[in-house]
Amino acid sequence: MIKEVKNGVLYFDGCNTVELAKEYGTPLYLMSESDIVGQFTQLKDCFLSKYTNTRVAYAAKAFSPMAMFAICQREGMCIDVVSGGELYTAMKIGFPAERIEFNGNNKLPCELEAAIDYGIGRIIIDGLQELALIERICREKGKKVQVLYRVTPGVKSDSHDYIVTGKKDSKFGIPLDEDVIFPAVEAAIASDYVDFLGFHFHVGSQLHDNGSHLQALDIILNLVKQVKEHLGYDVTELNLGGGFGVVYTDENRKPYSYFMTPMMEKIEGFFTDLGVVRPAIVIEPGRSIVAEAGISLYTIGSIKDIRGVRKYVSVDGGMTDNIRPALYQAQYRGVIANKADAEPTETVTICGKCCESGDVLIRDIGLPEAEAGDTFAIFSTGAYGLTMASNYNKNPIPAVVLLKEGSHKLIVRRQSYEDMLACEVLPE
Ligand SMILES: *Cc1c(COP(=O)(O)O)cnc(C)c1O
Repeated sequence: MIKEVKNGVLYFDGCNTVELAKEYGTPLYLMSESDIVGQFTQLKDCFLSKYTNTRVAYAAKAFSPMAMFAICQREGMCIDVVSGGELYTAMKIGFPAERIEFNGNNKLPCELEAAIDYGIGRIIIDGLQELALIERICREKGKKVQVLYRVTPGVKSDSHDYIVTGKKDSKFGIPLDEDVIFPAVEAAIASDYVDFLGFHFHVGSQLHDNGSHLQALDIILNLVKQVKEHLGYDVTELNLGGGFGVVYTDENRKPYSYFMTPMMEKIEGFFTDLGVVRPAIVIEPGRSIVAEAGISLYTIGSIKDIRGVRKYVSVDGGMTDNIRPALYQAQYRGVIANKADAEPTETVTICGKCCESGDVLIRDIGLPEAEAGDTFAIFSTGAYGLTMASNYNKNPIPAVVLLKEGSHKLIVRRQSYEDMLACEVLPE
C-alpha cells in the first residue's frame, strides 16, 4: 500500500507524512519512487515487453527535476522534452541523447541548435516552417536528425478545453489537408538533413476513454497508407502521444492495457494487411506516470467561518504550488494528515495564501474539525504541480522529497528568499 493510515496518521510510501512535514517544512511535495517505478513496470508488462520495437518517452513537463530524469534513465525509458530548459536538465545528468525526443509548437532556434549539438534522438516537427529551420541548422553544423511530423487528427477528446490538443482548431500539429501534409512529407523525405520517420499525434490529456486515441489512430493509419500509395514511402515510426487519465477524486482509472491493447491490435492488423513491417511504436505518458505518485503537504493556518456562507481553511501554499484548480477548475481530494481516520464533521473550503480570490485548492470538502497547526495533505499532485509553480506574491517554490519504502531524501530544496532575488539587479 502506497497510502495508508497508522494510528490516525497518513503514511505515504512507508513514511509518516506528519513527521516529514516537521522535518522538511511545508508546503512540501512528496513523490513516491515506488509508485513511479510501478507505473513503468505496468507499461513494461502490457506494452514494452509484450511488443517488440516499442518505446516509452516520459513527457518531462509533468514533473521535471533531474532526479526524475535519472529514474527514467535507470528504468530504460526515453524522455520527451519541450524546451531548452528541460533539454538542459537532461544534458546535466548525461541522459543518453538518442533517448530524448523534442516536442513543441514553437521551438526556438537556440533550443533546436542545442538539441542538434547534443545529438538528440528525435525532433517532432510541429509546423511547416520548422523543417527549413532544422535543415539550416543541420547544414551549418554538418549534422542530420531524425524527425516525425506531429499532425492534428481533428478528433475532439472529452476533457477540459485547455488540455484538449487534437482538434483541428489547435496551435499544435499540422492539419491533415492534402495540399498541406503531402508536400510537407515529400520535402522531409527529399531532405539531405533529416531522416523522416513517420507521424506523431497527441489527442489530449486526462482521458478515461480510449475512443479519441483509437479514432486518431485510424486517421493516422489512413495517412500512412496514403503516403505509401502516393509517395511510395513506408514510415518507420509512429508516436501515439500520452493523455492517459489518473485519479484525482472519484475517476475510474483504466489500466494502460485498456489503451494500448486495442491500439496495438489495430496497428498490427493494419500493417499485416498492408504487407509492410510494423513501424516502431512510441507513447509519451506524463501525468499517468507521476500524478498519483505525488502528495502536497501544507500547514493549516487561519480559519474563517463566515456563518451561513462558507468556512475557509487557509494553508501555507496555494496557487503558487498548484495552479490547476485556479487554471482549469481541477478537483482534488485531501485529508488532515494527523487526523487521517477521523470522521468528517464539517464542510470547508481549502484556500491558499495568495492575493487572489481564485486561490482555492479544494472547494467543499468534508473534514474533521481543522485546527491551526494541522498538516493538510492533498493527493495526486505529482503532475503539473511543481512544473507549473510560480513565485507569485514572492512565495518560494517548495521542496520535493522522494520517498521509497520508508526512506526519504530531498531532491529539490526549498527556494530561499535569496534564491528568488538571485536574478534581480538594482540599477545604480
Ligand atoms: C503534454 C504532452 C504529453 C503528455 O500528456 P499527459 O496527459 O501528461 O500524459 C505527451 N505528448 C505531448 C506532445 C504533450 O504535449
